[in-house]
Amino acid sequence: MSDIRVRFAPSPTGPLHMGGVRTALYNYLFARKHGGKMILRIEDTDQNRFVAGAENYIERSFEWCGIQFDEGVKAGGDFGPYKQSERSAIYREYIGELLEKGHAYYAFDTPEELDALRKELEAKKETFVYDTKSRMGLRNSLSLSKEETEKLLLDGTPYVIRFKIPENTEVSFTDIIRGTVKVHSSTLDDKVLFKTDGLPTYHLANIVDDHLMQISHVIRGEEWLPSAPLHVLLYEAFEWEKPQFAHLPVILKPVGKGKLSKRDGDKMGFPVFPLEWKDPKSGETFAGYREDGYLPEAFVNMLALLGWNPGTEQEVFPMEELIQAFDLERVVKSGAKFNPDKAKWFNQQFIRLKSDQELAQAFDKILKEKNIEAPIGFTEKIVALVKERVEFIQDFWTQAHFFYKAPEEYDAKVVKKRWKEETGAHITEMTGKLRQVENWQADAIKGCMSAFIQEKELSMGQMMNAIRLSLVGSSMGPDLAAIAELIGKDECLARLEKAVERIKK
Ligand code: GLU
Repeated sequence: MSDIRVRFAPSPTGPLHMGGVRTALYNYLFARKHGGKMILRIEDTDQNRFVAGAENYIERSFEWCGIQFDEGVKAGGDFGPYKQSERSAIYREYIGELLEKGHAYYAFDTPEELDALRKELEAKKETFVYDTKSRMGLRNSLSLSKEETEKLLLDGTPYVIRFKIPENTEVSFTDIIRGTVKVHSSTLDDKVLFKTDGLPTYHLANIVDDHLMQISHVIRGEEWLPSAPLHVLLYEAFEWEKPQFAHLPVILKPVGKGKLSKRDGDKMGFPVFPLEWKDPKSGETFAGYREDGYLPEAFVNMLALLGWNPGTEQEVFPMEELIQAFDLERVVKSGAKFNPDKAKWFNQQFIRLKSDQELAQAFDKILKEKNIEAPIGFTEKIVALVKERVEFIQDFWTQAHFFYKAPEEYDAKVVKKRWKEETGAHITEMTGKLRQVENWQADAIKGCMSAFIQEKELSMGQMMNAIRLSLVGSSMGPDLAAIAELIGKDECLARLEKAVERIKK
């Protein structure tokens, strides 16, 4: 395939939902795989829905995900401007062309008139549609004479410009994911292309820009499928070559029914947005994958597999491998069920793929927030010991806090089960033996502890658990001797003494 050009075209009306990130991701993978170009176009013609900060949020989200654009507001490019609000003159020119060719017409019906009609039909249990059947009975340049129309225009009467859906035709196109899609024109309405405010609607701006930006493939969410026949008719009206279409499946709620919505995350305890979003109007905060401790690679991998599969058993894909494996033909039609546990699983897999150095750097940030300064080499050893147990970077603290801070409390359940009358005396005696260990290494420490327990004929399980309780404060953690070695001899002995003193029966 040559000259592949795809675009992601968000409207900055709020934060980017993870479904939007997936759409952008599929576009990106497709472009990269075929050596094409990826474009970011901001579709901001609906001034009423503008939300401050949304465009910036979108840019930051993609930076975090590692999705790069070749052209766009920030990246620049030869096909700009890439923001629709800066392209008004272009749309005016093209709407002029449609009017001239007779594919569009002026409509002077006021919102009140249309509303009254809607109500009148509703009362008869019918629905009002501005279409091939009703348009001749309405106030527009098709039903009025040329002179009447010209007069209304000269008088400055407010108008919109509508697309003239051709009568009695079958609209048909091929969707890469869905095959042939056929719709009869009698089911389509004469959509507004140009609004009273002098700005185009989504449909006109989108088609004009896709054409001028030489978009080869329109890859977008299923919610745009109903608009596709109109878009096809617009291409035909302009006599332009159509791009290829691919409408992606919706992302479903974890229960499998209904589209995953922005409220689901809060209700079910997982993020639906890449980054945290604070709504500027309501002040409400929505959770983000980044802030919740997800690695961008895991988020991207999880999204890639929501609607696409490689046809093999492989599940873990770094971006480069996704690019190689991705194939639009393997995207499914039916909705893709989101599984929050699987998202966690991916995070765990990518944590395991990271080097101890990288993980230590990430964990060190959390330590610093807690005012803990520790040599990075020490933290590297700790992450190596516990990394199999964590799903998120912040879990390192849960799994390893005792390496940095002596326990202040002892888990009451473990105390009850493992700390008998005589345990304190045994620990004290063993502490004396440990004091003599010169080479403070896990093997030597373990050897000393085992020798003592055997010599005294004590229960290995019970003593080891009592020691763990003294060093950790509970029954968790990796190998005991490894803990003892890493916290150091003095600290280990001090913790044992402190436990004997504090856990008095
Ligand atoms: N601006 C539309 C959106 O917000 C673009 C849809 C399309 O890709 O055509 O999703």
